[in-house]
Amino acid sequence: MIIFKNAVDITSFLTTQRNIQQIGFVPTMGALHAGHLSLVERCKRENGIAVCSIFINPTQFNNADDFKHYPVTIEKDIQLLIKAGCDLLFLPPVSEIYPYGYQKKIYELGKIESILEGFHRPGHFQGVCQVVDRLLEIIVPQRLYMGQKDYQQCLVIHKLLELSGKAKRHELVIEPTIRETNGLAMSSRNMRLSAEEHQRAAAIFKCLRYSQQQLPFEPISEIKKHSKEILEKEGFIVDYVEIADATTLEPAVAKAPNLVGLIAATINKVRLIDNLLLN
Ligand code: AMP
Repeated sequence: MIIFKNAVDITSFLTTQRNIQQIGFVPTMGALHAGHLSLVERCKRENGIAVCSIFINPTQFNNADDFKHYPVTIEKDIQLLIKAGCDLLFLPPVSEIYPYGYQKKIYELGKIESILEGFHRPGHFQGVCQVVDRLLEIIVPQRLYMGQKDYQQCLVIHKLLELSGKAKRHELVIEPTIRETNGLAMSSRNMRLSAEEHQRAAAIFKCLRYSQQQLPFEPISEIKKHSKEILEKEGFIVDYVEIADATTLEPAVAKAPNLVGLIAATINKVRLIDNLLLN
């Protein structure tokens, strides 16, 4: 695996390869786990060159404490990427991603950026778009790999590609969520959970499964209420328990064919999110 720290260097290397083989790209913030690695492995299966980036993007953190405590495990990440078949790792300093400072380009994302994650993390999706837009400009991949774990982020990036007229240039590939044995969605933030909190956190996926099972039988409002109660009993502060249209993320008022359950909740300062397609 070749490691690049400089944008110009990786761009020129990839320019020499682009006509020979396809380039797949997996952007990450590091502290890699099996969820990230499933993206990298798929990327390698489907492309001649698999590129991964590790960059903890300051502009997508609306909470300074979360940014400060974001786990960093670079040496281990490098070994895991080599094992997963990654060809190139892009490991830029902030100045390579934001050469002109944090000045804001505004992305017209519409309602999707102000609901659910967007509501609870103001500015988050603008930051995500800034970094992904810049990384796409540097890597210019044929395929971009992202996890369903961050469901709303996938919709936002889909919109970003449409807005910038790049939907044909970069195919967005969504990989299913990889889970721990207790059902908890793998996340770099799970490292910050104690063994007991880790067990309690299984309640998130249990609530999503409960929503899926009860959807044909119970009113949506009752399912959401019951799920919230379960999470609070486990010690979570709940940001949202939502059942929404899977394309627009508009809250569902009645049963419909294309619904997704989404949860965001915090236990002992660790904020976790998860989702499940319900039907
Ligand atoms: P992050 O490092 O959290 O920015 O995540 C990088 C990419 O990995 C994103 O596209 C995530 O959606 C994806 N990802 C994170 N956790 C998982 C998981 N448990 N299963 C599948 N993909 C994941």
